[in-house]
Formats: sequence, structure tokens, C-alpha cells
Amino acid sequence: MFGFSQWRRRRILRKSDLDDATWRRVTDRLPFVARLNAGERARLRELTVLFLHDKQISAAGGLELNQEMRLGIAVQACILVLELGIEHFDGWVEVIVYPDEFVSAHEFRNPEGLVETDALSYAGQAWLRGPVILSWADVEHAGELDGMNVVIHEFAHKLDMLNGEANGFPPLHAGMDRQDWSRIFNGAYQDLCRRVRAGEHTEIDAYATESPGEFFAVVSEAFFEIPDLVKAVYPQVYGQLAQFYRQDPASRELPREWRLKC
Ligand SMILES: [Zn+2]
Repeated sequence: MFGFSQWRRRRILRKSDLDDATWRRVTDRLPFVARLNAGERARLRELTVLFLHDKQISAAGGLELNQEMRLGIAVQACILVLELGIEHFDGWVEVIVYPDEFVSAHEFRNPEGLVETDALSYAGQAWLRGPVILSWADVEHAGELDGMNVVIHEFAHKLDMLNGEANGFPPLHAGMDRQDWSRIFNGAYQDLCRRVRAGEHTEIDAYATESPGEFFAVVSEAFFEIPDLVKAVYPQVYGQLAQFYRQDPASRELPREWRLKC
């Protein structure tokens, strides 16, 4: 059946003024796009257009945002939902971009059990049913193959928040086993915490040990940027993420010009 949402989708795509040269200029700098085949790139482009139509990406703190900057953020967000659909980002509209790290109040429980507030600086934040906030200086870092990508990180939190607070347990698809997910993620999280405490160098960024929610966001960054490494270090986590995102980025070849940068 040709429903309203499909009609709306086609209308938005038809009216898009995104040209090939701009699309290529922005996506050529992104390693996870370099791995995609032509069909996947075309779908990513459609999702990106829908994202830009549905979301409001606004600047704060004196930053000036242009079309290419907005496009760069949208493409990176949409890689997460390439096989899931843009509806996974429903329920909120705003992306706010600061020029650099921004300071935000942070609540924590002190050793006496009382809640205190202090100010911390952030590269990104994702609010439950609210905005995603990004530092442009960190967004620009996306072209490096180091497993770190603030846009993927914050939008992974958004997917995790589809069933409440970001706790590393997003809503799983039919056929996925909740107990497998818990056991595998908890095992890898504990292993990484142990290695970080022991002072070992870890392939996965140590920030992942902050909480199970941060672990999910950090391994999602690595899953798209350095999938072979995630598969080598935590193969079962890789398997769960491949089922969750319905993508297998390690099976996609990284073009030679990118391999030279590794
Ligand atoms: Zn986070």
C-alpha cells in the first residue's frame, strides 16, 4: 500500500536541493561512508535528506553553521539508522551545535549519598526526549580513523533512550535475545573496567567504563569506525551490534586510500 508516510517521504526527497558535489565533498571525508556500496550510499543520502527536513540543527555560542556542516552532522547520525529507518529518531527535533566543548551542570551523588551539582565541559550530550548537543570542534574530528566519533556516540545514546534512560540496553529487535545481550555486554564491560583499572592500554576508549550506557555508545563509535578491531577484541559484542544495527561494517572493505591512513 502506498501510505501517507511514503507519499510524504517521496515529496521531501523530490524537493531536496542537495547536489552531488556537496554530498561527495562532505561524505568523502568520512571513513564509514567509504566502506559503503552504491546502494547503501544512495539510501544514506535519502535518510540524510529526511533527517535535515525533520530536525532543526541550530548554532549556539557564536558558531555559524552552514549547509555543509549541517549535512556532515546529519550523515553521521544517519549511518546508525541505515538499516533501521529514520523513525528511530522520532520524538524530538533539536540538534544544538557549539563551537567547542561546552559547560553544563552535572549532578552526582557524593560519598554521603547527597546529590550535588558541579559544572563539567562536554563534547556532546543527548537528552531524553530532548535535544542532542554537539561541539563542532569534536564533530570535525570525524575524519580520523581512531574509533572516536561524537555524533555517532550521541545518536547511539538516542537509540538507547528509545526505551528510557541511556543504560546500554536499547529496545532489541524480534529474534534478539535480551539475556544474550545482557550477558555479553556486561561481560565485556567488566573486562574493560578491569583492564583500565590495571592500567592496560585498551583498544576501546576508556571512557566506556563510565557506565554501561557509555560503553554502548563508545563501542558503537568503534563499531562503525574501526569495526575490525571491535570484532577482534569483543567478537560477541560485535555480533550483538551487527544484529542491532543490522549492519556488518567489518565485512565492508575499507578502500586503499583509507587503509594507508591507518
Ligand atoms: Zn555518552
